[in-house]
Amino acid sequence: MHRLLSLSLLLPLAAQEVPPTLKPVLDMIQADNAWTLEQQTSICEIPAPPFKETVRGVEYAKRLKSLGLVDIRTDAEGNVISRWPGSTVPKPLIVFSAHLDTVFPEGSDVKVKRSGTLMTGLGIGDDCRGLAVLLATARAFQKHNIKFAGTVLFVATVGEEGQGDLRGVRYLFEKGEYVGKVDAFISVDGAGARATSGGVGSNRYKITYRGRGGHSYGAFGMPNPAHAMGRAMARIADIQVPKSPKTTFNVGTVTGGTSVNSVPIEVSMEVDLRSESPLELKALDERFRAALQGALEAEKARWPESKALLELDVKSIGIRPATEASDAKPMAKTAMQTAKAVGLTVFSTGSGSTDSNVPLSLGIPSITIGGGGAARGAHSLDEAYDDRADGYKGPQWAALLVATLAGLAK
Ligand SMILES: [Zn+2]
Repeated sequence: MHRLLSLSLLLPLAAQEVPPTLKPVLDMIQADNAWTLEQQTSICEIPAPPFKETVRGVEYAKRLKSLGLVDIRTDAEGNVISRWPGSTVPKPLIVFSAHLDTVFPEGSDVKVKRSGTLMTGLGIGDDCRGLAVLLATARAFQKHNIKFAGTVLFVATVGEEGQGDLRGVRYLFEKGEYVGKVDAFISVDGAGARATSGGVGSNRYKITYRGRGGHSYGAFGMPNPAHAMGRAMARIADIQVPKSPKTTFNVGTVTGGTSVNSVPIEVSMEVDLRSESPLELKALDERFRAALQGALEAEKARWPESKALLELDVKSIGIRPATEASDAKPMAKTAMQTAKAVGLTVFSTGSGSTDSNVPLSLGIPSITIGGGGAARGAHSLDEAYDDRADGYKGPQWAALLVATLAGLAK
């Protein structure tokens, strides 16, 4: 509560209009749109697979430096952090960010193809667009000597995508030097005029059933880990979840066993549970665990004479907290108003699974916005970004939102 109040007190600009100081900034972003797209392409052609964002991070740090950012460093997790110079007070502290990583493995072809306003390439929208938006914004702020009242950090995070499990943003808010200090968080992720003010929570598990194993014929008559896991999957598949708040489950990978004529020693599955609502996620998690345990017991009960062991191991491989979305949040309102001021109509996506999840779960006003233009096929080999006629409105929106939250220096 205290944080929301303090944020509403630090909105010195009227968000629905563009202050005269910022007009030339927005004009420059529009006029130099080609520069923004060139940044988007060239940063995207540096591979950044999960856990291997360093090369792209080093280049990004260089570009931030050339655009006037100061105190540039890479923290212990790999996030590239920089500060806009000349803030007059440390507070409010605004983090303006995009993510470096992609979902694509090492060795993928990262060449970007371009035809008119359409660009095709791995990660071109998610999140090379966000990275380019930060650079375009910095360049226009630099050119027009913009100084903020508060402090603005430009941050490129690592590990936003699935396997990374938000490790970059987690480090920033849970371990790094800014723990407890950030007043507002903006992530530019992907394209479009989207705003995501809530976080979809997810619990991910690697589930393993283990037994003694043996010959399929000779040792028949003992609990079978694969059969136990099959029972678990059938139970999971029958779990009823609400449509709204959206709540989902998925058995995503299944592995194990050694040969067709062996009772497996071990089988595993990876499962993803998600919900927009913290309560529904908790309820789903409990039903899921009951299904796992029930399956274990049913498989043991099937072979009452057998003394062979059967074990269940539940290992958490990622927890993302859920936070309810609301357009009534001051941050969501400010985002809507600033979008309107640059001529964008924002569509609210409710909850997402992005870097904002972590600060949102800590009660810090946060939003994930699109970078303008339009994108399709995120995380696919056909990923494309179309700048259309007004892609520049994305960085304009971001610039106005940052300036509104940080306030302009007198
Ligand atoms: Zn993304």
